[in-house]
Amino acid sequence: MSNSITLSPSDPILLTASLHVDDARKAISGLVRELIAESKALNSPGDIEAISLDQAINRILAEDLLSPIDVPAADNSAMDGFAFHGECLSAGDDNITLKVIGTAYAGKPYEGSIRQGECLKIMTGAVMPNACDTVVPQELTSNPNPDDSSVIQFEQGQLKRGENRRLRGEDLQAGKPAILAGRLLRPSDLGLAASLGIATLSVHRKLKVAIVSSGDELRSIGETLDAGSIYDSNRYSLTGLLNRLNLEIIDCGIVRDDPISLKEAFCKAAQQADVLISSGGVSVGEADYTKQIMQELGDVGFWKIAMRPGRPMAFGVLRPVEGKLPASKTLFFGLPGNPVAVMVTFYQFVRSALLQLNGASQTEAQQTQAIAQEPIRKRPGRTEYQRAILGRGSDGKPTVKLTGSQGAGILRSMSEANCFVILHHDQGNIAAGDWVDVALFDGLL
Ligand code: AMP
Ligand code: MG
Repeated sequence: MSNSITLSPSDPILLTASLHVDDARKAISGLVRELIAESKALNSPGDIEAISLDQAINRILAEDLLSPIDVPAADNSAMDGFAFHGECLSAGDDNITLKVIGTAYAGKPYEGSIRQGECLKIMTGAVMPNACDTVVPQELTSNPNPDDSSVIQFEQGQLKRGENRRLRGEDLQAGKPAILAGRLLRPSDLGLAASLGIATLSVHRKLKVAIVSSGDELRSIGETLDAGSIYDSNRYSLTGLLNRLNLEIIDCGIVRDDPISLKEAFCKAAQQADVLISSGGVSVGEADYTKQIMQELGDVGFWKIAMRPGRPMAFGVLRPVEGKLPASKTLFFGLPGNPVAVMVTFYQFVRSALLQLNGASQTEAQQTQAIAQEPIRKRPGRTEYQRAILGRGSDGKPTVKLTGSQGAGILRSMSEANCFVILHHDQGNIAAGDWVDVALFDGLL
């Protein structure tokens, strides 16, 4: 399937027996691209807002951030040492001897001028004094005359002219972009903006994401558990996942397995939200009336994805409900009900779609590799996401160990893990000692 074409979620190509994870991702990304184009055409006001730096973490930058200043603002020293005219380096003397005539501190420049044969003690970050272009680091110098501490000496040949000096505008030039539009803002970006004296950033508005749990067996925390019922955990793991993306969450609660309640909940979401994420009710046997409702409300495909956990998934759009302003469609993900499958399908499909829809340029989660500590059984023909702990072997190499039983309903396997081992579609059994792909749950920064 090409990257550029867009398929309807209910296109027969996507409804074939078992959909490759990559094809599902391409179809999702194609549809999101289409939604973005439609929403641009609607010219919806308020898509971009200005917010202060302390609110901007995990938001997505909407316009290139141009630096108003040169960074650094002046030539300055990269080392603690002595600044001098570099011309003397070509004089051919073996040793260079200079007289120290003052000190320049960071934030306290030296105002006087320095002549040939003289130098200035200089601290890292201090502005280079007039006409000086080179800094000899303190540790390369000695004091040739114990009676006169104002003279330093160092060997010729250890230093090139211009060394240990940072040039004005070396990191950033005034008017050039410091951060490009589409960046998911991290702590370092906020620090960078602050270092340029910028107090507010232009970001895309928060996406409104509605979540709903469906199932007759589900109870809310605080309710008594009668025979056969279970607590609804998916809304809480989804809330946690969504909070990490700094979105606006609309909690639509638990909906019973009946068409009227479902339709009501989905209409409410289509009225208010950019995206609806439901869990449960998409597996064989249960999906039938959901399908019926979706036909009335939008264009949704019911996919069997070649993956484990998370095989059934519904995906598509809900048409704008009458009166919705702007009249934009709602992206819909019907995730499987199993608690681990919810998190896996969120990680694999929903997260990147939300980032893409919200204007992020980089939407893929980072992966790394580690050595499997044990053999892992794997059948070719589906992608598997096993829960595991990434560690380090005695030889210093990264290792990965599965967290016990891997059933799709066993949330403890997720809770104890810090990563997924991703076993790709065509991969077969893994032997202990094989390198495998790993996706960390938490980024480092
Ligand atoms: P379903 O996809 O509706 O067939 O659900 C698959 C399994 O996940 C069943 O055992 C459900 O009881 C369970 N399940 C569905 N929704 C939730 C939820 N919100 N919280 C916890 N378990 C759930
Ligand atoms: Mg169910």
